Parts: sequence; structure tokens; C-alpha cells
Amino acid sequence: MGSAGLVGITVLASILVIIVIRQGRVVSGVTRGLDALAQNQKPRMVRAFPWGPVGRMAQSYNTAAIEIRAQASRRERDHGQLLVVLGAMAEAVVAVDPRRRLLFANESAHELFGLGPSSIGRLVPELIRGSQVQEAVEATLRLESPATHHAELVMPGRDPQARSLPRHLAVRGSPLPGNPAQGAVLVFHDVTELRRLERMRQDFVANASHELKTPLASIKAYTETLLDWAIEDPTVNIRFLERIDEQANRLDQLIHDLLSLARLESGQEFFEHGPIQIVPLLESCALRHRDRAGAKNLVMSFEPGNLGLETVVVADEEAVRQIFDNLIDNAIKYTPEGGRVDVKGVVDGDRVCVEVADTGIGIPRDELPRVFERFYRVDKARSRELGGTGLGLSIVKHLIQSIGGQIDLVSRVGAGTRFTVHLPRGRDDAQSDQHEGPARGLSLRQVEPAVDP
Ligand code: ADP
Repeated sequence: MGSAGLVGITVLASILVIIVIRQGRVVSGVTRGLDALAQNQKPRMVRAFPWGPVGRMAQSYNTAAIEIRAQASRRERDHGQLLVVLGAMAEAVVAVDPRRRLLFANESAHELFGLGPSSIGRLVPELIRGSQVQEAVEATLRLESPATHHAELVMPGRDPQARSLPRHLAVRGSPLPGNPAQGAVLVFHDVTELRRLERMRQDFVANASHELKTPLASIKAYTETLLDWAIEDPTVNIRFLERIDEQANRLDQLIHDLLSLARLESGQEFFEHGPIQIVPLLESCALRHRDRAGAKNLVMSFEPGNLGLETVVVADEEAVRQIFDNLIDNAIKYTPEGGRVDVKGVVDGDRVCVEVADTGIGIPRDELPRVFERFYRVDKARSRELGGTGLGLSIVKHLIQSIGGQIDLVSRVGAGTRFTVHLPRGRDDAQSDQHEGPARGLSLRQVEPAVDP
């Protein structure tokens, strides 16, 4: 072999060595990239000539790495979105594995069941006390997808102050896919408020029907007696007709109050809040009730205090009139002969306060928070006898809310009752119609009977 042949072999050998080294680099680049993908890290692309088996392998790797990476980021994004959606849900969502270990709980579930970050992986019966939740988990694990389990659970309240108020939870359980199922997902929806409203509605219908039935039964009984024989008996016929008239008036009042309340509660009542001079309005209310108070031998007074003729409140005139008519009417009804009913006013900053105080029977301490409820009466028989419907104060409460006012109640049994109404004060000058609308929202305050009214 000549020197030319030797040179040729050397060059060829060098080229082969370079090719082997390059291919070695490509293979280790692909290996590193696969390792990175396995660890869910971003892999580097491998640079190689696109020919030969190693080059084609590198090319396939590059294409696959881009696709796998894109899929991984899509999955991460979807997972993130799912967590945000689950976190924003008002419903509590809990996932358990077939061994009853907690796989996942969203924020509402953490709050509802008092879970923490260390709860994941622990046994659900250890984390959530209450056999009804375990029963729901077991019932769901027994199902086969796509069947679902539905139930309503009643659990003790979590507020230690109100333990007696149970929580109602509607639960829907679905098994996770797989055969056997890989666990279960349970969604808990708090329906406590819904059930409370349903109960209130049922109570209301029952109460209203009962209230309507009583005067109707009386009317029917007197009418039948009159038709039977009493119409010709001058010693009773007029009295019976008067009773019918009384009961018809009661029905009329009841229906009037029910309609007012329904309009107020549905928000259909239209209020025109404007500046009104409060002193003449209170004077006319007091005057309207003077005869009734006189008939019961009650002293009735109106003291404007530091309210002047120019003192203005911003409210609906009819609503304010109705509030004071109701309060004065109650004061007269629940004050025995010889007592007093005093209406007093005072300006207090941006509010006008009006007190309606009586020296009547008073309201027991435990019942104070309930007198604004529909149909609630301390003494049903007495209220009915006095022509009460049990709706007056709940109408007052709604009217005060619509005005943006406030009402305080102080009472002591046997000493008397004082209601104080706080109304938004308007500017006292003639242009006071440039007022702001009333603030909305409940601002009822009930004060324990601490002072003599
Ligand atoms: P009613 O038509 O029975 O008077 P209200 O809603 O006006 O209904 O009042 C609810 C209950 O609150 C009354 O039945 C009565 O027991 C009590 N109450 C209201 N005002 C007074 C008052 N001034 N003094 C004593 N009790 C009162």
C-alpha cells in the first residue's frame, strides 16, 4: 500500500470517528431529553443531520418532544382551571378513594367539614364525624357509573352559639370511572336557608288560613242561627247582626294587612320618598287616635321636643303615616284604662327620632325579638279580642326597611313599652327636595328592657 492509500485510510478513519462521536452526542441528547420528559421538565431539542437511522430518530424525538410538552401544558392549564372552578363553587366537593381516603376537597368542603391541608390522604370517617356522610360515601361506592346517589342530610350546626340550628345538606354522589370504581365524588349543597323559607311559607299559609277561618266560622254560625230562628227574636237579632258586622270588619282588616304585607315583601309597593314635615304628620296621627284613647280613659300627649315645623324627614308620606298609626294603635290597644300614650320627637344629628311610649302591659323579655314576625302575638286571644291581626308590626318592619330607618324597642312587663323610630332627616329649607334616596337594608334594633319607658 502506498502513502496515498495510507492517507486515504486515515482520512476515512477520522471521518468515521467524527460520525461516531456526533451520533453518540445525538443519542445522549435524546436520552437526556427523554429523562427530562419523564420528569415533566422542558426537554431540549436535539440538533442532527436528518439522514441515517440516528438522524431520523432525533427528528422523531424532536417532533414527539414538542407534542408531549404541548399536551403536558394543556393538561396543566386544564387542571389549573378545574381547581379554580372547584374552588369557586359554593357547593362542597369531596373525592374519596375505594379505601375511604380523602383524595380531594375544595374550599367549600374545607369550610363545611372543618378540613385542613393535612386532611388529604386521611380516612374520611376520621375527618368527618356524622354517620350520614359515611352512609352517603358507602352508598356511592356501591354504585356503578353513571348511577348517582341522592340524599338529604341533617347535621348539627357548626356555630357553637347556635348548635341547635341544624344544617340541611343535599348530597349527590357519583362513583369515579373504573371497574371496580376508583372511588367516589360527593357534592354537598347547603339547603338550610331553602328549607327555612319553605317552612316559613308553609307556616304562613297555615296561619293565614287559620286566621281567615275563625271569623268566617263566626259569621256562618250567627247567620245560620239568625236564619233558623233568631231573626224574629228582637232580644238577640240586632246583637247577632252586630257580631257578624264585627267579624266581617275583622276579615276586611286581615285581608287588607295580608295584601299590604304581600306587596311590601314582593317589592311591588311603590314608594315616593320626598321631604315631609314630620310635626304636622305626627299631630294628625295623634289626633286621629284621640277619641279611641279617650274612650279608654287614656291620656294621650304629643311633644314635638326640639322638632320644629321646618323639620323634614325624607321618606314616603303614606309609609310614615302607616308606621305611626300602627304603633299608636298598638299602644292604645295594649294599655289598660287610665294609662298614658306619649308621642315625643327629637332631632339627633342626621336622624329624626320619634318615640311612641305607653304605660301598658309590656312585652316579656323572651318575646321581644319575635313581635316583628308575621302573625306573632304574645297573647293570641287578647290580640284577637282587641281586633289585632298579628301583622301590624311586621308591616312596620318592612316600611321602616324601605325608608332606610331603624326601630328600637324597650319594654317591661307591667310597666309599658317604648318604640323609637329613627328616620332620615332632610334639609330643613325649602329646596330640601334635593335629597338622597333612602338607604336600604335591615336596621332593626331591639333593646333589652333596661329602662322604664
Ligand atoms: P296585633 O295585631 O296582634 O297587635 P302586631 O304585629 O301589631 O299584631 O303586634 C304583635 C304583638 O306584639 C301583639 O300581639 C302584642 O302581643 C305585642 N305588642 C305590640 N305592641 C305592643 C305594645 N305597645 N304593648 C304591648 N304589647 C305589644
